[in-house]
Amino acid sequence: MGQVLVAGGGAAGLMAALSAARAGAEVTLLEQNKQVGKKLSATGNGRCNLSNRDQDLSHYRGGRPGFAGTALKAFGLFETLDFFETLGIAVRDRKGYLYPYSDQASAVVDVLRMEAEDLGVKLALNTRIEGALRQGGRFLVETKGWTYEGDALILAAGSCAAPQTGSDGSGYRLAESFGHSLIKPLPALVQLRSKDPVFRGLAGLRMDARVSLYTGEQLLAADTGEVQFTDYGLSGIPVFQVSRYGVRAMDQGRKVRAVLNLLPYLKEEELPAFWKKRMELGARRRAGRLLVGLFPKKMADCLLKRAGILADKKTGALTSEECQKLSQCCRAFEVRISGSNGFDRAQVCCGGVDTGEVEPKTMESRLVPGLYFAGEILDVDGACGGYNLQWAWTSGWLAGTHSGRKLQKEHLT
Ligand SMILES: Cc1cc2nc3c(=O)[nH]c(=O)nc-3n(C[C@H](O)[C@H](O)[C@H](O)COP(=O)(O)OP(=O)(O)OC[C@H]3O[C@@H](n4cnc5c(N)ncnc54)[C@H](O)[C@@H]3O)c2cc1C
Repeated sequence: MGQVLVAGGGAAGLMAALSAARAGAEVTLLEQNKQVGKKLSATGNGRCNLSNRDQDLSHYRGGRPGFAGTALKAFGLFETLDFFETLGIAVRDRKGYLYPYSDQASAVVDVLRMEAEDLGVKLALNTRIEGALRQGGRFLVETKGWTYEGDALILAAGSCAAPQTGSDGSGYRLAESFGHSLIKPLPALVQLRSKDPVFRGLAGLRMDARVSLYTGEQLLAADTGEVQFTDYGLSGIPVFQVSRYGVRAMDQGRKVRAVLNLLPYLKEEELPAFWKKRMELGARRRAGRLLVGLFPKKMADCLLKRAGILADKKTGALTSEECQKLSQCCRAFEVRISGSNGFDRAQVCCGGVDTGEVEPKTMESRLVPGLYFAGEILDVDGACGGYNLQWAWTSGWLAGTHSGRKLQKEHLT
């Protein structure tokens, strides 16, 4: 029986360990925390959005877009749901977003840990990996006071995102020590910062908007949903969704601006009639009332100011330039982005181990036979909505199953 070592006991490492054990390997999982699944238990605000019915490949990003697609073909949503069903996790569907029926991320951690224990996986907790190497066809993994040996090694030590959960980037160093290249890891699914003083007045507001990020005239990404205005800048799901593109552009020294359409559900061609009617209805009222009922007061005041319109001017006396300026401010509320809230607040990283050096059907390294990767350590990041966990399940299953099967085959020949 071959021995598989798994570095990291997060979602991907647990899935990999279970799968390798199911494929017949003797498995030891090394985790520096005193428990497995620390990040997993914090996912989805403690409810764990474990996957999504919409598996369009555009939700998976990275340097080589085909990589995740090939892997998901081998072990995708339906296989994942079957897998969890066998562990007793029934799934709750919220508009396609999938959660454990109990709405408890801790339940997902528990079933994975219990199944690992039932399969005889050795959990080496409080065990920080300091280094690893391949010698004489075996992997030696150094920890304080002990060297673990295995026939295969799965690196599932996560990224740099949310380091308080244990993923401090040391997995990347291990991958590099085996000769693998990294696409620079950067924060993704993260809030965006702005030095624009406008945020001092808008902090606390939540509004639906379409957020478009630009560098120069180039559109980087756009998404629609509830945006949160904070004292440091922008937050909310649509901001998270586009953040990776802005963070990457800023890291390359490019200037990034966010353009918010505060009337995202009105079509361009509907706008003239919309404003005409509003102006006519409010012709004898003050401009300050023009936006009442449309936007929260703080935003209405800010928009009038940006359009250069005095709140007590009669609406009927507004010039067509002023009306146009106001409409433009509502459709394209622009702020300069200065950075992000960094790895500490990011849900995931974009970047990681270059997937050109990894076999997508097995997750085995193309450089070092017997070395596998799983989870966020790879240059694959999902959109918000269960895609990062789906990637952990997919890559974890592939790495575990194929490392276990390969060792079984070698053992039999
Ligand atoms: C607050 C938050 C909410 C999220 N919500 C969702 C959600 O609802 N849905 C979704 O799809 N995604 C969500 N994500 C993203 C998702 O949690 C991650 O993409 C996923 O958990 C990554 O799994 P992983 O196993 O690759 O890495 P991790 O979960 O980070 O696991 C890596 C493990 O390796 C260990 N490790 C690292 N270095 C060493 C070392 N040198 N020695 C020993 N052990 C080491 C770490 O301690 C850690 O336990 C969320 C992320 C955060 C931070």
